[in-house]
Amino acid sequence: MTRIGGDEFAVLLTGIRDAEAAETIASALTRMLARPVSVEGMMLSVEASVGIACLPEDGETVDELLRRADVAMYQAKKTHSGYRRYRADEDSSTLAHMALMADLHGALDQGDISLCYQPQIDLETGRIVAFEALARWNHPVLGLLAPDAFIGAVEQSGRIGDFTRAVLREALSTGGRWRADGARVGISVNLFARNLLEPDLATEIAQLLLANRMPASALTLEITERAVVMESATTVRSLAALHDLGVRLAVDDFGTGYCALNVLGQFDLHEVKIDQSFVRNLAGDRANSAIVRATIALAHDLGLRVVAEGVEDSETINALSVLGCDLAQGTFISPPGSAEQATALLRDAGRLATPRSADVLPFRRPAGERSGTAAPARRAYPATDGI
Ligand code: C2E
Ligand code: CA
Ligand code: CA
Repeated sequence: MTRIGGDEFAVLLTGIRDAEAAETIASALTRMLARPVSVEGMMLSVEASVGIACLPEDGETVDELLRRADVAMYQAKKTHSGYRRYRADEDSSTLAHMALMADLHGALDQGDISLCYQPQIDLETGRIVAFEALARWNHPVLGLLAPDAFIGAVEQSGRIGDFTRAVLREALSTGGRWRADGARVGISVNLFARNLLEPDLATEIAQLLLANRMPASALTLEITERAVVMESATTVRSLAALHDLGVRLAVDDFGTGYCALNVLGQFDLHEVKIDQSFVRNLAGDRANSAIVRATIALAHDLGLRVVAEGVEDSETINALSVLGCDLAQGTFISPPGSAEQATALLRDAGRLATPRSADVLPFRRPAGERSGTAAPARRAYPATDGI
């Protein structure tokens, strides 16, 4: 056995009968590595993935065998299957992915990751309260890539810290400019679960806020439900440090993970973002409507603000308004746009270079003030002219 770099090891098996024997050993290896170990009182477990390439079927040279074992290992990682034998038909998609991962290092170093911004509006006033920053990669060959095409590569590249830092830098710089011009809007940034394992996260964010003259309350960090549920001692410490800093914390994609509802009460959260899958067809779907109503009631009882995402039509926005939802985000209001387009939205809404009378942040409804079930009838939302 030898270490071939970073967290990658190669095992050479000689004298085995066939590929099945290699699979048996790989399976035993992954089981052994998966056993939790105690480090300074904290239980840690690692998920290892093994790729298998056999001589002579899968290659005749060391380089070829190693490369193909790597391809199989990536597939094992992607499918969480533990181990995988090399398959030629999986080679090209894996190679494309690996190439993307290699390009990502350059993109991060050269600043090819850009952001677009999507407004969130207050359903009561129609005003823009905040923008969510959404990453885009301007790839030199493939063109502008949406996160679906590259977020997986970011997670596997080992550079999620650099990626999130780049996103935070850009988002806070844009947010700082808007605020300097008089628009008191907030900015939301998505975090990876693993960002919460970085001990310096809160300190770095504090420095960026300071450098961009942004109050902490103007930054919302969106963390997926899954990340919050995967609580570890470090995650809890990170969330507490961020909370102490004064930034807002939102649970993203609410309803899609394994979130027991009590998680909402366990952490110092500020916001719940109801996943698009419940928001879509809200007006015509009784089950979704019941889920959204219950989520709003619970969140309000806990003093949390509720954002509905994926609002695509006027029926949905009206239904949300009746249910007492606080904020809405979606293509019906505005699709994500460049910083310039977002600035134009603010300018059209008269929010730039105006006196500071129209502050809508921070926004935190007192517990129990308004529950979804007892929501007063709200006015119909006036299409998009409210922003
Ligand atoms: P998300 O955080 O749930 O972001 C909302 C996604 O829904 C965005 O997709 C947005 O463009 C899309 N969307 C907005 N309005 C509508 C609508 O009315 N209908 C529909 N069908 N979709 C709508 P996008 O930009 O492709 O981002 C996809 C996901 O990638 C995000 O989902 C987020 O999980 C992740 N992501 C994006 N940027 C970052 C980032 O900087 N860091 C991290 N960690 N993840 C990011
Ligand atoms: Ca989000
Ligand atoms: Ca979401």
